[in-house]
Amino acid sequence: MELDKMDENEWRYHGEGNKSLVVSHVQLSIVLRLLKYPAEDSENPPQTVEQAFRQVQNIVDFSSNVMSCLLGEKFVHSGEVVKLPLEFVRQLSIKVQHERPAWRCDKVMDIYSGCALCLPNLTSPTLHQPTHTPTLCIEIKPKCGFLPYSKHVSQDIKTKVCRFCMHQHYKVAMGTWKRRSRYCPLDLFSGNRQRMHFAIRQLIDEPQNNLKIFKGGRCIFSSLDGIEDSMDLNSLLHHLRPYFQYGNNRINSHMTSKALLTDFIQVVVNALLSAGGGDGGVGTDRRGEARSFCEASLFNKERSRHGSQGSPSDSVLYRVRQTQMLDTLDIEGLYPLYRRVEQHLQDFPKERTRLQMDGPYNEAFLEKLHKCPSEDDGSLEYAVSKVHQYRVAMTAKDSQIMVALVPSCEEEEDDEGLPGQRQHRDFLSSRPPAFSYSVSILDLDPKPFDNIPRQLRLDQNIVSCYLRSSCALP
Ligand code: ATP
Ligand code: MG
Ligand code: ZN
Ligand code: MG
Repeated sequence: MELDKMDENEWRYHGEGNKSLVVSHVQLSIVLRLLKYPAEDSENPPQTVEQAFRQVQNIVDFSSNVMSCLLGEKFVHSGEVVKLPLEFVRQLSIKVQHERPAWRCDKVMDIYSGCALCLPNLTSPTLHQPTHTPTLCIEIKPKCGFLPYSKHVSQDIKTKVCRFCMHQHYKVAMGTWKRRSRYCPLDLFSGNRQRMHFAIRQLIDEPQNNLKIFKGGRCIFSSLDGIEDSMDLNSLLHHLRPYFQYGNNRINSHMTSKALLTDFIQVVVNALLSAGGGDGGVGTDRRGEARSFCEASLFNKERSRHGSQGSPSDSVLYRVRQTQMLDTLDIEGLYPLYRRVEQHLQDFPKERTRLQMDGPYNEAFLEKLHKCPSEDDGSLEYAVSKVHQYRVAMTAKDSQIMVALVPSCEEEEDDEGLPGQRQHRDFLSSRPPAFSYSVSILDLDPKPFDNIPRQLRLDQNIVSCYLRSSCALP
């Protein structure tokens, strides 16, 4: 990619979240991730070019120096900051506008700074070999996978029903989504294949912003609109069918839709439980065992009573959940510490830099995070350390897991993978056909310090909404 010869015709709309818009290259397996601003700021950028550059550099640093250490290098691709020609960015923004979902258009793409993040395209690691079967890719935003165990939790319900399940009631009440999702993160993180299967099945039924499926780098299944239905399940099955009738004695038999979906989900479950290529031990996540059930989950508890041992300690799920669990105090216990830091910063504004409240996210930051007294000694350092840990946990709760799959018989000729991309391929031992896969974690942006009060309010709103609506239930 030559930055001075950028051509918007070589890029296409790929997807977006709340904070950024992503375009993918039509030939190379790379994406550009651009910042978004609220639409009302579209005439006036809310930050200078230098600030935008800092923001994107902070994202790279946070991902490569902090999150990668906690989640495991093999899962994290931090990318690099690029400075794009403004004319290219303007043309690009016009080009992608009509492909953007309406419910995301309350924000506009940053066309002022020219700063972007260049990343490997994790949905199509083999796109450069057009003769090969297109990669299938499943993107899951799992959300928080444990129940808070902090003594600061004031409402008992928070230790029984997980945050995601409670939040669903709030989101439907607020009109964000039309129906509640029956997905429960605790099922996905359980390590129990049946519960995980159930969780992924629920994501397919109601993907909201927690599931996307790509084929050959193109999104083929997601939630179409904020309140509309998801894409057609039949069309998903149509896309999946060739992958699952491949190379075995099913060639002439017609698989039922149910069997097809079961096989597909099983392949995803296997990849999520795998070591991601490493050969670590088979330890399991026993810490969360005692409270690994959410009372709101519809999974039949009897069926899995004997089998929720937690995910293997070398799996992506284990790493994500361990990082989420750096939120040891819950927002209720964290908030007073936030106030301690904030008070200090009001008195000594220059301390904001020394305490690295907005970065830089380097080794010193990681050290502050780890070097935390076990009990609150009333110090500023304890409070800062806990705030940093909380922010890291927030990032892990908001990240996505990407599982890219290709039928493995094709992959045998291609054991090199893409240059610049760490891939871990294994042969899944499940039912035929086998897939080779690559697992990554993305969207690892630092969460602003100043967001913490909003988190407390949101938590209170979610809990009171849940208590109201569950009382109203028969
Ligand atoms: P959120 O609202 O979840 O915070 P965000 O605005 O931070 O999202 P991302 O999740 O990083 O943005 O990116 C938006 C979407 O773009 C993702 O859901 C994913 O589908 C796609 N995407 C992002 N990075 C990559 C990548 N490296 N390769 C392929 N697709 C990507
Ligand atoms: Mg995202
Ligand atoms: Zn739940
Ligand atoms: Mg994000």
